[in-house]
Amino acid sequence: MTNDEEDICGLCGLPGADKIPHPIRWPDEQSPGTTYVHAECEREECARASNLCKGEARRKFLAWC
Ligand SMILES: [Zn+2]
Repeated sequence: MTNDEEDICGLCGLPGADKIPHPIRWPDEQSPGTTYVHAECEREECARASNLCKGEARRKFLAWC
């Protein structure tokens, strides 16, 4: 079996990831670069990036979603 790397979370680097990363990310959101992430890690990274995105950039992003 060579599955070991497939469940590595691209955000925290730990195994056990089981969520496919969402395709739309905030401008400052880290791209996992892996097949799976932890839902919790993605939620936190999304919240972090969301906080960094303010004003005009935020409006544009939300309008584009
Ligand atoms: Zn993780």
